[in-house]
Amino acid sequence: MTGIRLKPHPTCGWGRYPVVTSVVQRARWLDDLRLSLDRQATLAQGQLRSYGDAGLAPSVVSTLELNRILHFEPDTGVLEIEAGITLDQILRFVVPRGWFLPVTPGTKHPTIGGCVAADVHGKNHHVDGSLVSHVEALTLVTAEGDTIRCDRSDYADLFWSCFGGMGLTGFVYSVRMQLLAIASDQIGVVTRRTRDLEETCDILKSTQTQHRYSVAWLDVLHRRRRGRGLVMLGDHTQGASMKAHGARTIRFPAVGPRLFARPVMQAGNAAYYRRQLRRLHHSKVHYDPYFYPLDGLRDWNRAYGRPGFLQYQFVVPFAGGLDCIRAFLDRICNTTTCTLAVLKTFGDGQTGPLGFPQRGWTLALDFCQTPKSISTLQDATSLITDAGGRLYLAKDAIMRAEHFADMYPRAGEFLAAKRRYDPGKRLRSALSDRLGIT
Ligand SMILES: Cc1cc2nc3c(=O)[nH]c(=O)nc-3n(C[C@H](O)[C@H](O)[C@H](O)COP(=O)(O)OP(=O)(O)OC[C@H]3O[C@@H](n4cnc5c(N)ncnc54)[C@H](O)[C@@H]3O)c2cc1C
Repeated sequence: MTGIRLKPHPTCGWGRYPVVTSVVQRARWLDDLRLSLDRQATLAQGQLRSYGDAGLAPSVVSTLELNRILHFEPDTGVLEIEAGITLDQILRFVVPRGWFLPVTPGTKHPTIGGCVAADVHGKNHHVDGSLVSHVEALTLVTAEGDTIRCDRSDYADLFWSCFGGMGLTGFVYSVRMQLLAIASDQIGVVTRRTRDLEETCDILKSTQTQHRYSVAWLDVLHRRRRGRGLVMLGDHTQGASMKAHGARTIRFPAVGPRLFARPVMQAGNAAYYRRQLRRLHHSKVHYDPYFYPLDGLRDWNRAYGRPGFLQYQFVVPFAGGLDCIRAFLDRICNTTTCTLAVLKTFGDGQTGPLGFPQRGWTLALDFCQTPKSISTLQDATSLITDAGGRLYLAKDAIMRAEHFADMYPRAGEFLAAKRRYDPGKRLRSALSDRLGIT
């Protein structure tokens, strides 16, 4: 064990809300995960790129020094890594060798352990499913201190419960996964400008079989044509280079006053929408700006000032989903200022009992954190439950326990696995306490 920050200090997720006072131990070796249990750690923590309180608890073990590559097969693309390695570190190793992450979230900074815990999805869920579809096995330390290797046949209930289980079933030590072969570091991108929400959804849905990746940025502040936007469709393509260099980044200087007045956001959205002059545009770019546009500005979450911000991401089934999204936007956009809106589709992939993806539309929205935005979003959540949808735990900071029970009908299956591998109810987080999971 390389270090323990004995003095509790304030910690928060990417949204900078809520803040929990925490003692952090640091694991360097597999055995340190077990030892951290003796020192009362109740949760593994990665890069704190989850937005709300999923990675927060009064006593945690950080996995960031567990960042080694354990095994790599250059011919087949099978990779086994320690849980604290970040996606960026993985990409720097695998891209020059002709491989890529099979699923990646919209930032390359999370750890693979955090990505397992959230069962992250990318812009390719409609083709490739979520992360679990590409993971062969996990090694983890349970709350009882046992080291278990689990997969789809051995300890299958534990394996599935880890995906979406937000760290509540054990400390993941290593992940064995299958990478995706690529011919270059380039992505061929087709960008289509849309007139309104209907057209955005039509294009996203009708192009599902044609492109591996798809995502839409929405302008939800435009009064008449709310939901107009830019649909960005992408595919790995041929090219001469195989580099994992990120684009040059700049850092947001400091936490200061908030920069998101509504008229400023409306003007910003209009300018972003119009930056694309033609309705259809073809380009070829390095994968970095396509998958990780926000990583170019480090610490951009500071722009929301001390109170921080909320990301609210939900999924609703395709049947009735568009009506639900329209009603939801009508309800919230007049009372709160949404600073970012991103729409994607989910296909039929499998996930764990607390996994987020289900077939349908998924919309992620950012808001300044204020008592008003919290109560508005909490009240509007019944629209999501009524439509048969759910909120993403990796982004959540505000869901009420009764909504969780409605949204996650397989929670009983998860709790049965948790009872089996954590009979002493040791593993918990601020999120699990808030939602009544622990
Ligand atoms: C800009 C941005 C864009 C994003 N885009 C997407 C996206 O497109 N799709 C998507 O799915 N997500 C997305 N995310 C969310 C992010 O991928 C997840 O929240 C991920 O879980 C963060 O990993 P982390 O290492 O930061 O984990 P943390 O935030 O530190 O922890 C998250 C959860 O993982 C658990 N955990 C961490 N390490 C371990 C371990 N070794 N063993 C067991 N449990 C562990 C924690 O206990 C906690 O419950 C985005 C986040 C940001 C900031």
